[in-house]
Amino acid sequence: MVHAMTVDYILPFHVENLDIRGRGANFTTLIDEVLEHHTDYPEPVQRVLAECIAFAAMFSSNLKSEGRVIMQVQTTGPIRLCVVDVTLPDKIRALARFDDERVAKAIKSGYISTSALMGRGHLAITMDLGKSLDRYQGVVAIAGQGLERAADQYFNQSEQIPTKMRLVAKKTDGKWLARGFFIQHLPKMAVQKDMDGGDGSEVIEDNHWAEAKALVSTVEDEEMILADVTPEKLAFRLFHESDLRIYPKMSFKAQCTCSRDRLQALVSQFSHEEKADLAIEGKVTVDCDFCGRKYEFKAEEVN
Ligand SMILES: [Zn+2]
Repeated sequence: MVHAMTVDYILPFHVENLDIRGRGANFTTLIDEVLEHHTDYPEPVQRVLAECIAFAAMFSSNLKSEGRVIMQVQTTGPIRLCVVDVTLPDKIRALARFDDERVAKAIKSGYISTSALMGRGHLAITMDLGKSLDRYQGVVAIAGQGLERAADQYFNQSEQIPTKMRLVAKKTDGKWLARGFFIQHLPKMAVQKDMDGGDGSEVIEDNHWAEAKALVSTVEDEEMILADVTPEKLAFRLFHESDLRIYPKMSFKAQCTCSRDRLQALVSQFSHEEKADLAIEGKVTVDCDFCGRKYEFKAEEVN
């Protein structure tokens, strides 16, 4: 059997001489499959969600355990909410909530960058990594700086790891491509506490890190999204002179993890009024918000 070529993957790499590790993301079919359930989203909303998926997958691929990672971006812009739900190691589902009128207005006026569509709010990542570990949530503010910078700040604040994140998505001839690329500094002397005892910590930025960040910044979005600029080619182009090591690709797929049992448990927690609103002729019908699948319960099943 010949395996189908992997088109949806994360590529881990390490640059020995610059003390950095990184990840690249390449998602095509996966994005198309997630968005098949959300054909009513305007294209710029689909694009932002695709960028969120690339970020959530790269973030999740850093975790070795089983469990679940939920990334939520809640904002006051035309897009109100993006949720990417990753069931480790490889299942992804996602949805967005947005204001139709404000998105239409943004499209008309051309203000459709990710930062413009998000506006202000926060990025939260909840990790539920199995029995032995507590649920953990990290949160970072989004104050108009967009998703890439919020992601950098998330890693800086939650893990004290200097990070440079790039995210870009584009639809060409009806097919989506989302690319992500990030590097993290793993210095020998990691972090030095502020001398004034403030809660912030100051990271010693060495020349290697400055050089690596500058290299990643030189890549234009338009270039990053070219079909043949795969993460492996980009990593090679930027870092092949600095002892680049590429690790095996990690594949991801679009798959909703909803089930009758899960939805039944969820609906059972609704208030009497909410259940009464949903009930028609003694039956409660609920659609999965992620994949649209319909589940029907008898009223007594969700009491
Ligand atoms: Zn579902």
